[in-house]
Amino acid sequence: MAEPSGIGDSIPLDDPGLDIAAGEEFLQEVFQILLEEGVQKSTDVTQKVCEWKEPQELRELMDLELRSDGEGQERLLQRCRDVLRLSVRTGHPRFFNQLFSGLDHHALAGRFLTETLNTSPYTYEVAPVLVLMEEQVLAKLRELVGWSSGDGIFAPGGSMSNMLAMNVARFRRFPESRSRGNWDLPRLGLFASQESHYSILKGAALLGIGTDNVHLVRTDERGKMIPEELEKEIQRVKAEGSEPLFVCATSGTTVLGAFDPLDAIADICARHGLWLHVDAAWGGSALLSPQLRHLLAGIHRSDSVTWNPHKLLMVGLQCSAFLLRDSSGLLQRCHGVGASYLFQQDKFYDVSLDTGDKSPQCGRRADGLKLWILWKAVGTRGLGWRVERAFAATRYLLEQVKRREGFQLVMEPEFINLCFWFIPPSLQGQESSPEFWDKLGKVAPAIKEKMIRRGSMMVGYQPLGSRVNFFRQIITNPAVTRQDLDFFLDEIQELGWDL
Ligand SMILES: *Cc1c(COP(=O)(O)O)cnc(C)c1O
Repeated sequence: MAEPSGIGDSIPLDDPGLDIAAGEEFLQEVFQILLEEGVQKSTDVTQKVCEWKEPQELRELMDLELRSDGEGQERLLQRCRDVLRLSVRTGHPRFFNQLFSGLDHHALAGRFLTETLNTSPYTYEVAPVLVLMEEQVLAKLRELVGWSSGDGIFAPGGSMSNMLAMNVARFRRFPESRSRGNWDLPRLGLFASQESHYSILKGAALLGIGTDNVHLVRTDERGKMIPEELEKEIQRVKAEGSEPLFVCATSGTTVLGAFDPLDAIADICARHGLWLHVDAAWGGSALLSPQLRHLLAGIHRSDSVTWNPHKLLMVGLQCSAFLLRDSSGLLQRCHGVGASYLFQQDKFYDVSLDTGDKSPQCGRRADGLKLWILWKAVGTRGLGWRVERAFAATRYLLEQVKRREGFQLVMEPEFINLCFWFIPPSLQGQESSPEFWDKLGKVAPAIKEKMIRRGSMMVGYQPLGSRVNFFRQIITNPAVTRQDLDFFLDEIQELGWDL
């Protein structure tokens, strides 16, 4: 290696290389902007949801180029305002585009704390408070699943949590695969419903199992996995010489909000010795409501669960718990490598609190803190109430959709995913011809474009199987009122009237 040359010789080291006073002053201003533009305006129903710009226009407006010299504080503050002004306001009461929405002030405070602390909960020494909080939050989530012991870790999103489940399942069956890789494993078989989240396919690709080995089990007309079809698929895959390993049941499918019948699926998994994972990324929060928990009846029989509090509970992106029934250290054995610079075994404290090796990540965001502080603020009952309020809002909207001309339900909702078509007057009364469906499929994208250009609201649409594009309305934000829901339908009617 070259000798350290004279690099930086002329830089004095006696004073800090940052202007700390100016930095604090800048932050004061940014906090004010955050409060006004990022919180107040973003949640103000009289403001627009989004300020649509074409990409080239936006590039120029934002003056994105990075230059040799830095800019002054005033310019930077203006940039902060621009970021907020030109971004989509996901906390707005008329933002319904995603499975996350809304702005919870306590959870946001938790995010500020997390960002400010800037630490990784991999060891107790560097994140004592956060490690213990994570432990508490995971234990509480497991308790709601119905497990008095177990394990878990926060992952960067439900997709990653699902992949961890697949990896741990493979490790339990084939512990040697960790060192030897996939080369001498049998061809594995994974099972998930046709309505399951696409992360199962991604995970199979990432883990070297192969997307061809994910078998999508048929669903019924409500989007639920048919247990008899699962049994048939398992038999078929076995007969072809593959080794069934893992079943992913979904509690709350992404589009329809369907809940797979967990007890029946658990019976099949028990009979064949398969790992049962429940992807409750979306629907897991129903466990918080005594009235709604029955949707996930049987979840305690699973081996692992994915649950995203960042969706229904408005905790903020991202917060995804991967929960495990096993308490024998499977997670640690599966992912742990015991890096000697981080997880020294001769530390002066209980090193079992150095939980970071349970994760395939090294540095990791402390995603438990924001959920912990929200939970402290509203209690388990408050969280459950929010889920019930989402149901109430969905039921109201359902009644309106049934009552109003031009709206047609895709199906009665089981959860809080309300799926419907808007049929403009030009198409009314022509149902059933292929031409009708072809035209109807173009309606939702056209209305969507109009609402985004107007900035009045945002809602998602998609085709599904043989069904042409329909809207999927999701209300997770308790700030949404009846007026917002009426507006939502009025606006669709107005934007779609002349199509
Ligand atoms: C959202 C979702 C996921 C993925 O979660 P991310 O945090 O977005 O990665 C997985 N499964 C289901 C059922 C989901 O709805």
